[in-house]
Amino acid sequence: MERICASCGKAFLPHPAVINVLYQRYCSDPECQRARKRKWQKAKLASDSGYRAAQAEAQRRWCNKNPDYWKQYRQRNLEYAERNRQKQRERNQRRRMIAKMDALKMENAIIPGRYRLVPVCNGVIAKMDELIVEIGVISKGFSAGAQIGP
Ligand SMILES: [Zn+2]
Repeated sequence: MERICASCGKAFLPHPAVINVLYQRYCSDPECQRARKRKWQKAKLASDSGYRAAQAEAQRRWCNKNPDYWKQYRQRNLEYAERNRQKQRERNQRRRMIAKMDALKMENAIIPGRYRLVPVCNGVIAKMDELIVEIGVISKGFSAGAQIGP
């Protein structure tokens, strides 16, 4: 029974050693086998904290043994290095923008205290009906769209 490879989309015959042919979802093409392993590892990293910690430790050890690897990799792959720099510039810009927006939010924060509330009727300020109101802040993290319950 032919199957369709989940990676390249081509038809293939499952390996005879695979008892349940439905288990084999990738053809034997090396690129498709790499895709299968990548997918397996991604799922394993997401679901298994022990595996994740072991992988991080192995990577740290490898990096300590090969301290110049990434420096040399960037020298050999100039396009990769430039793309990385560009992406980092974008991340930095986004971070600066978020910091700026946070600063603006702080400036526009309502200061608790007493305020004069003057009604405007048909564009005319009705000073006679003004009220003195007290405004207090209930919650600093209160976001638009959230509602106070009854
Ligand atoms: Zn394939």
